[in-house]
Amino acid sequence: MNNKISFFRSIQFKIAAIFMLLLLITIEIIGAYFVHRLEQQNIETFEAQVQLPSYVTTSLANNLASSSAHSRRNVRSTINDISNIQNSDIEVIDSQGKIVAVRNSSNQNIIGQRTTNAQIKDVIYSGRKTTQISHNDRDGSYYLAITPLISSNGDSNTVVGAVYIRADMDQVYKSINSIVFIFFVASLVAGLLGALISIVVARAITRPIAEMRKQAIRMAKGDYSGQVRVYSEDELGQLAVAVNNLSVRVEEEQENSDAERNRLNSVLTQMTDGVVATDRHGKVTIINEAAQSFLNVDQKTAFTMQLVDLLEISATTSFDDLLANQDERIIEPEADSDGDNLILQADFSLIKRNTGFVTGVICVLHDVTEQQKIDRDRRQFVSNVSHELRTPLTSLRSYIETLNDGAWKDPHLAPQFLKVTQEETERMIRMVNSLLDLSRFDQGTAKLNVELVNFNEFFNFILDRFDMLIKNNQEKAAAAGKDTKKYTIKRTFTKKDLWVEIDPDKMTQAIDNIMNNALKYSPDGGTITCRLIDTQRYIILSISDQGLGIPRKDLKKVFARFYRVDKARSRKQGGTGLGLSISKEVVEAQGGHVWVNSMENHGSTFYISLPYDPNETGGDWDEAL
Ligand code: ADP
Repeated sequence: MNNKISFFRSIQFKIAAIFMLLLLITIEIIGAYFVHRLEQQNIETFEAQVQLPSYVTTSLANNLASSSAHSRRNVRSTINDISNIQNSDIEVIDSQGKIVAVRNSSNQNIIGQRTTNAQIKDVIYSGRKTTQISHNDRDGSYYLAITPLISSNGDSNTVVGAVYIRADMDQVYKSINSIVFIFFVASLVAGLLGALISIVVARAITRPIAEMRKQAIRMAKGDYSGQVRVYSEDELGQLAVAVNNLSVRVEEEQENSDAERNRLNSVLTQMTDGVVATDRHGKVTIINEAAQSFLNVDQKTAFTMQLVDLLEISATTSFDDLLANQDERIIEPEADSDGDNLILQADFSLIKRNTGFVTGVICVLHDVTEQQKIDRDRRQFVSNVSHELRTPLTSLRSYIETLNDGAWKDPHLAPQFLKVTQEETERMIRMVNSLLDLSRFDQGTAKLNVELVNFNEFFNFILDRFDMLIKNNQEKAAAAGKDTKKYTIKRTFTKKDLWVEIDPDKMTQAIDNIMNNALKYSPDGGTITCRLIDTQRYIILSISDQGLGIPRKDLKKVFARFYRVDKARSRKQGGTGLGLSISKEVVEAQGGHVWVNSMENHGSTFYISLPYDPNETGGDWDEAL
């Protein structure tokens, strides 16, 4: 675009050349006409000069009519006396073609001979006067040969001879040539002047054009700062004004479209949804950052790909299918390096021009992983609940059927069966209550009755209750003569009183669940160690047992609803699989955390942390009360 145009291809040269050509053609035509007319005019004048005066013609007619020697002398003297025709050869020939007289001393010996001149012969035999311009090849001179016919006096039909006049035309041609030379020089000067003027005129025309071209090149490069100079008010001046206006308009439009593009880019960048746009062949032309991270691809690679390949749906869907049908699709791109499996909902729509011509497809990717996971969990939960309730209900039915079939009469079996049905019913009630608790947490309707509690006392109170329970159970077992597991509960508490804001009832439930598990899974004679410590911002209580522990892979899962490492064992011990999930909900609802450490066959430690402000003491309360 910025190529320099060679001079011979430039408009400047073309205008100058046309101008010059026109000038040359005009000069040539005028010159040719002028020279032709000049030559004609001069020849005519010269011809008029070399005509024989009438007295010469009369004298020659008289003398040629007689063949006497006197007459022949007269002829010679007559032609020698001709005064108006200078520097010319004159020959007089009689009617027989014999040369009678010659006005050229060097040629006197041809007198009396027959003429060899074809022109003279022609005149004598045809009886017509001729005029002819001839060129002498030897000396390059031009001469005019006139051959007037001499008729006898009184009878114009009787030819008595002819006169051959050969006049040198050098002078004529010299004067013509000098005029032609002047004309040529004048033409040359006019041509040069014309060339000069045409170059100036062409420059005047092409200079503003060149400036406008430069401005257009600058505009194409995005520089709108320059303005074209307006030299005149003619069409070129108007064009320059139009170019300047255009430059301003294009700059404004460019700024608008830049602003628009920036806005669009920032919208696309800010969007949490992924956006991918294609051309009408399905090749990716736009991809925002969200889409890049969803699809685990960088922009450069994406731009070389087809949309269906990028979305990994090419096996089932072609781009034409997308054009024909823009139904949403659920896609699961390959897991990224972190191993996170995403589930995306892809909505498609066509990009159309006003004319309806489809120029591409836009695909909006929405991360529905969480939603899909919730849906999956919900389905799983419903299926778990149904399964968990069906098992006790089935066993209840079989016990009741057996009782109904007559076992109620059996004094040994009946109480045993009734005890089992009661236990199963209680377990179901516990499970339903737990589910109701969890559902309240899920819906956010679980109310917390928060109190500032001395946590050391609170924890001691719970553990005292467990000590009592263990003691009662052992006494009952001893009274019944049965053997039961023995446990010791060990307490390692900080000396500092820890005042914490908690809902005591719910917190009791959370700790109960963990303590019950510790008792359930402890071996006979095991020690359950309960610790209470504080950090700067948290209190941490832990409950360790010496039970069979939890396999590493199950550590995180034990807080999930209905998750049990050993289902049969848990059920046998009256577990519902919901205890730890309730503990987790309760603790987290109070801003705390719950986690577990365990070594298989060596025991488990459950931790609960709760937010704690060291400046908070119950002192104010005590005083207030
Ligand atoms: P469950 O009613 O079955 O005890 P939980 O939610 O309280 O339900 O516990 C979930 C599972 O975690 C249990 O089934 C058990 O496999 C495991 N678990 C909980 N506490 C302990 C522990 N102290 N030692 C070993 N396993 C435990």
